[in-house]
Amino acid sequence: MEFEQILRSQGYRLTNQRRVIVRELEGERHLSAEEIYDRVKGEHPELGLSTVYRTLDLLHELGIVRKEDFGEGYSRYELSTERMHHHAHCRECGVVMEFNEELMEYLRLQVERETGFVTDWHEITLHGRCAECARANPS
Ligand SMILES: [Zn+2]
Ligand SMILES: [Zn+2]
Repeated sequence: MEFEQILRSQGYRLTNQRRVIVRELEGERHLSAEEIYDRVKGEHPELGLSTVYRTLDLLHELGIVRKEDFGEGYSRYELSTERMHHHAHCRECGVVMEFNEELMEYLRLQVERETGFVTDWHEITLHGRCAECARANPS
């Protein structure tokens, strides 16, 4: 359990609530704090929404989760141990698709070559509508 070591090395314990939240994110990516709360509250009534937020903030600070903003007015989270990938977010149904596109890699290298920028991390989000929503409501 990698994240347990990260917590310990920073002086934090792997509390039950931290374990529960990480486990949810192992099962499904791109969850919002509210979605995590909805999934765990049945089994863990002791876990309030504000605890979920606080725990996610801590996990984010420690680099255990990535925080993603798809322009919905709230963040979504996924474990930072996930392989590098990019997102396409549908503004109608909210689905988040992942893609690992070599063109994006090429784009990064191109920008680095032109500007001398040194990239730590890159994540690209395409904003628009998924195939189904675009088909249902062509505009
Ligand atoms: Zn859609
Ligand atoms: Zn993702």
